[in-house]
Amino acid sequence: MATHANAAAHRNPRSPLVINTARLGRRPGSMLTVRESVPSPSRIGLDLVAIDEGAPLDLDLRVESVSEGVLVTGTVSAPTSGECARCLTPITGHVEIDLTELFAYPDSATDATTEEDEVGRVINNTVDLEQPIIDAVGLALPLSPLCGDDCPGLCPRCGIPLATADPGHRHDQIDPRWAKLAAMLPEPPGVGEPPAGGGES
Ligand SMILES: [Zn+2]
Ligand SMILES: [Zn+2]
Repeated sequence: MATHANAAAHRNPRSPLVINTARLGRRPGSMLTVRESVPSPSRIGLDLVAIDEGAPLDLDLRVESVSEGVLVTGTVSAPTSGECARCLTPITGHVEIDLTELFAYPDSATDATTEEDEVGRVINNTVDLEQPIIDAVGLALPLSPLCGDDCPGLCPRCGIPLATADPGHRHDQIDPRWAKLAAMLPEPPGVGEPPAGGGES
């Protein structure tokens, strides 16, 4: 799959996240609502957790004509999947983001004074929500998702997830490298002394 080097490359007119704004007719105050579920056009998120390509994106948006362009506000929510950063167990979740995104008309003052990567543009009576959603989801998702707040991680000796191991999972045999180290440590107090109150002498 090709990687997109710039924002313009994202403007796929067939993307479900491209919204036709022709109905607004550039009359400030006119508004349309978008309430639908569309398949995510790509995997959106971070390395360890993301919205999968094709997963349902629930859009609940107001698309308003303002003097400088089209203002999109509302929420986008979707299921996420990934893996626990500590124990690598597959996890599923949910993400919801708030969007407030202005798309400038090509001939507006905003168009003249901003770069396209700062403020999106209304292009051929459409606005493309993909990049704003990618940016907001990236900020909303945890960098280190966990299967649970108290995930104990993996056993450092055998690598199994401790959350699903037997309670008290441990390894009795001391690793030879540690055995050597243990032999160099001073004996814990009490060891080697006669038992207190022993009457066998
Ligand atoms: Zn975990
Ligand atoms: Zn183990």
